[in-house]
Amino acid sequence: MESNQPLLEVEHLSTHFFTENGVVPSINDITFSIAPGEIVALVGESGSGKSVTSMSIMGLVESPGKIVNGRILFNNQDLTALSYRKYQKIRRNDISMVFQEPLTALNPVFSIGFHLVETIIVQQKVSKKKAKAIAFEWLEKVRIPNPKEVFASYPHELSGGMRQRVMIAMALSSHPRLLIADEPTTALDVTIQKQILDVMKTLSKELDTAILFITHDLGVVAEMVDRVMVMYGGEIVETSSVKQLFHTPKHPYSKGLLKSTPKIQQSDEKLDAIGGAVPSPANLPTGCKFHPRCPKAFDRCTSEHPSLINLNNENQVRCLLYES
Ligand code: SF4
Repeated sequence: MESNQPLLEVEHLSTHFFTENGVVPSINDITFSIAPGEIVALVGESGSGKSVTSMSIMGLVESPGKIVNGRILFNNQDLTALSYRKYQKIRRNDISMVFQEPLTALNPVFSIGFHLVETIIVQQKVSKKKAKAIAFEWLEKVRIPNPKEVFASYPHELSGGMRQRVMIAMALSSHPRLLIADEPTTALDVTIQKQILDVMKTLSKELDTAILFITHDLGVVAEMVDRVMVMYGGEIVETSSVKQLFHTPKHPYSKGLLKSTPKIQQSDEKLDAIGGAVPSPANLPTGCKFHPRCPKAFDRCTSEHPSLINLNNENQVRCLLYES
């Protein structure tokens, strides 16, 4: 049955890093929600705060980083107030994560079968025999063509695409309510990327698992998601349905990102890169954080910080051009 209750509600989240050289505000006042089964993307260039947002949700921000403000409600339960043990339980059963480079998450001395079986035993408290049967089911679900061979292989013996399929099997075998996928296909070639996205989308629908997709790649967004949040300088600067973002982007940064994304029909067309570089969180500009790179910037942009403006039910934008 459909529920109107969001699965995840991130409210005014700020995570800062307390370094020897001062406080680095990596993300500031982030607010968004995800419905059960919904696929949402957090998009932006590297350094925009996407990964710190996902690590904050997972409770995995390492010292000297710290959540300094806000709440993260998962099924109405505030994750920021949980003990380590209770958070671990949620990470084991309800929220899973897939990273860009599976090799960092797989132990090179253990076989793929060992990784899967151990994960399933811990998550589902089943016998080794049953765990092995479930592991094979999952290798088939993620469309691994030769499950027996892969089960007996070691991580370094598999291609990047195969390793990522194994990671998806491990992440989804507990039937989590939320999967956080941080650039899961960035290291893969385009054909494999498409196959992996297809597997993730199909399984998310089958299991009713919501996905928070972290990516810099708008091509991936078009394939995969229902709704998009664009991040820049540690803030959300636009939220939109995927259709609206591709047809009528509002924020000058979103427009720039789209112009720099190749389109299938226009493979020979020259792409316009956004000028300048993402600012370091340690040295953010005053006013609108995008003003040094914005082709529409005007005098107020250097000193006034724009708030997030609601344009309609599904569209918000952080830009002084949309005031009133
Ligand atoms: Fe550009 Fe100004 Fe809008 Fe920022 S507030 S995006 S600098 S026009």
